[in-house]
Amino acid sequence: MMDPDTTRRPPVLILDDERDMCELVADVGDDMGFDTQWCDNFEDFACRYSIDLRGIFLDLAMPGMDGIEIIRFLGDNNSAAHLVLMSGHDIHLLDAARRLAEARGLKVAGVLHKPFELASLSAVYDILAMVQSPAPPQPVERAVQRFAPTAAHLGAALAAGHVVPYYQPKFNVATRQVTGAEVLARWIDPEHGMIGPDRFIPLAESEGLIEALTDCIIDQALDQCRVWRGQGKHPRIALNLSPLSLRRLDLPDSLLRKVMARGLFPDTIMIEITETALMSDYSASLDILTRLRMRRFGLSIDDFGTGYSSLKQLQNSPFTELKIDQSFIAKALTEEGSRAIVESSVQLGHRLGLKVVAEGVETEEQMEFVKLIGCEEAQGFLLGCPCTAEAFPWP
Ligand code: C2E
Ligand code: CA
Ligand code: CA
Repeated sequence: MMDPDTTRRPPVLILDDERDMCELVADVGDDMGFDTQWCDNFEDFACRYSIDLRGIFLDLAMPGMDGIEIIRFLGDNNSAAHLVLMSGHDIHLLDAARRLAEARGLKVAGVLHKPFELASLSAVYDILAMVQSPAPPQPVERAVQRFAPTAAHLGAALAAGHVVPYYQPKFNVATRQVTGAEVLARWIDPEHGMIGPDRFIPLAESEGLIEALTDCIIDQALDQCRVWRGQGKHPRIALNLSPLSLRRLDLPDSLLRKVMARGLFPDTIMIEITETALMSDYSASLDILTRLRMRRFGLSIDDFGTGYSSLKQLQNSPFTELKIDQSFIAKALTEEGSRAIVESSVQLGHRLGLKVVAEGVETEEQMEFVKLIGCEEAQGFLLGCPCTAEAFPWP
């Protein structure tokens, strides 16, 4: 996917203290039509740095070199390159670095958690191929501004096919086998790189675009399931629905039609609804949810613990799965209150006959803990980050 109007290979610079890693990233980039250069120290990097770079791969954990310092250097130089942040161990560091880079006006095309699959690397290069060449240097004020999408931007992105599904694996806690994929929306903007759903789902909801967005993601994800089935895989996916979708009386039938039209089965599809969405209009939600369940869709209560549902409401709801909110998993090993919430959520889920999923598992210690207390499934950066369909690790 190269620039159609230019024969110049987009320049990419790679900085990593491990030479093998540099060579790997460079080889894949060269094969995909980029003009790569790599270096294993900051002095070399500063020499080779130029304003017309399309992409910069940056290892954050290098002995004697501070990745954060380099982000500051790029911010100070008004770099218009799209960053790909890489790190070996600490997912918090990746996340913090991404936020810091964005706060400094830099664009982040993706993050690679080492060790990563070649497919993940190619997927990041695909994004770099799609994004535009950097604009000429801008005045300094621009550096601190962040892209604030409007409804018009989002509408155009939906029409242009720039809003796409990513897939995060869910795992069986006991066997660590992949059991399914949660579909998470991503906006790949040619100019601004990857934009996360927290920055456009609320906009879609407030500007009347959520139905179009939901349909767009569901259609692409179901098409993908069909492709996976053609490859001999047995995909099971989870779709996130906005509370507003729970007002669409035609939803159960229209979803069933979409699924059957592709030769798929509703019992391989889980619908995730947040606990807060459920509580915002309990009786209307219950109507739609019950009709979805009657059509054999799985139903998952998402972000459990944040919505104060009552025992009675849960007992009367047709859910099949309970996902414990990641904020409680994050603190369960350090904070007694969070641990108590997680433990009692698991017990409650099991008493109601639900499968319990732990979300946001980032460390082996958290994985041990959720195993000990009886969660059947887990999801989180320790096990697998959201990725493209091509990179998804179906067994
Ligand atoms: P969610 O449904 O709770 O999805 C899980 C979020 O946690 C995802 O963020 C995922 O990338 C992130 N995550 C996964 N593992 C970890 C981990 O180990 N640690 C941490 N800190 N985070 C982890 P993402 O993709 O940014 O999505 C944010 C929210 O946006 C989702 O929360 C979901 O509520 C909403 N969303 C995403 N896609 C869609 C969509 O197609 N439709 C609707 N209505 N909402 C969507
Ligand atoms: Ca979810
Ligand atoms: Ca969740």
